[in-house]
Amino acid sequence: MVGRDPTEIEKEIKSRYVLTSKDYENGLRQGKLLGLKCKDCGAITCPPMIVCQRCGSINVMPTELSGKCEIMTYTVIRVPPEGFEAPYIVCLAKTVEGPWIVGRLDYDPQKMSEEMLGKTVKIKGVFAFSDKYTGGEHVCPVFGLA
Ligand SMILES: [Zn+2]
Repeated sequence: MVGRDPTEIEKEIKSRYVLTSKDYENGLRQGKLLGLKCKDCGAITCPPMIVCQRCGSINVMPTELSGKCEIMTYTVIRVPPEGFEAPYIVCLAKTVEGPWIVGRLDYDPQKMSEEMLGKTVKIKGVFAFSDKYTGGEHVCPVFGLA
């Protein structure tokens, strides 16, 4: 065999995940926004990845974010993917800790406008969904005006 055993590589990668996507979603279900704090540069990474979003260090630890965010951009979905109901608003929000996260905005899609950009929102719950591609139920944050 050339190189390392693939199962060993997989095991090593799994051992480096201090916070998985599943942990992130379970946190959201419990009303917590979880991310990673870098022990080298102090940056916050959210949603979790294997490395620090800023410096690439693997020296990261789980941390809880405030859930307070600012709306940076949005789109109103009027033609939904299979299994979803429209209209609804998807927005990209910047957490006060720094990272940008995606979620739904609990607001009237007919009234949504650019005046909402910069508004302060807070995570007020989750939207649960399952589709034929990802298998199993997933959740995303739902933001409400603060
Ligand atoms: Zn870092």
